[in-house]
Amino acid sequence: MLVEHMTWEEYRDEVARRIIILPVGSLEQHGPHLPLNVDVVIPTSLAKTVCEELDGMVLPPISYGYKAQGGGQLFPGTTSLDGTTLINLTLDILRETYRHGGRRFLVLNGHYENTAFVTEAVELFGRAVNDATVVILSWWDQVSDEMVDELFAEAGFPGWELEHAAVTETSLVQYFAPELVREDRILDDQSERMPKYSVFPPPDDTLPKSGVPYKATHASREKGEQLAKHVVDAIVQIARQEL
Ligand code: ZN
Ligand code: MN
Repeated sequence: MLVEHMTWEEYRDEVARRIIILPVGSLEQHGPHLPLNVDVVIPTSLAKTVCEELDGMVLPPISYGYKAQGGGQLFPGTTSLDGTTLINLTLDILRETYRHGGRRFLVLNGHYENTAFVTEAVELFGRAVNDATVVILSWWDQVSDEMVDELFAEAGFPGWELEHAAVTETSLVQYFAPELVREDRILDDQSERMPKYSVFPPPDDTLPKSGVPYKATHASREKGEQLAKHVVDAIVQIARQEL
């Protein structure tokens, strides 16, 4: 199911039949306890699990994303693409896979700031072909209100915009790739102020010093497992309905 591990003949025989999942992430700071590739690990792991339940194949992920907002760009390691680069990269991958026979696509996004650019790529792709279907989804949009209430019973839900390197992302990495988590460096943090507008360059007091804007100590492997199963079920249902 991992395209990068298939031979060309295996690929040729499967590409038209299977749902093709493209994970899209970022190389971005995720606090002192998580690696830079969290936004890649999560959608790629979800995609692999989805393929255990339906006929799919997973393309190599896009490992860079659009620029992190809210000060993320100021941290060493956050290495981002211009919008036009992300649009063209996504479009090239869709076109090439289509050329080989792929017709049913699921773009699985793990980095909030990618959304508009990935959508633009799919819009441009759809202008050129009329017999392909593409679903674009971000994993956090598939989390039900009930699941949010359950996961944030103690911490309180701050809104998805602050759920960066905090409860959900930390829990999911603890579940999918525990070897990547620096357990002794998990912390709660926040910025001094959170304006509802953007200032460029971002003032110091609008970003948390650690890179963690909320309570990562409320994360757990159990929450990660519960959340992963919930999101995988939702994605499988979406794929069955739309593709
Ligand atoms: Zn993230
Ligand atoms: Mn991100």
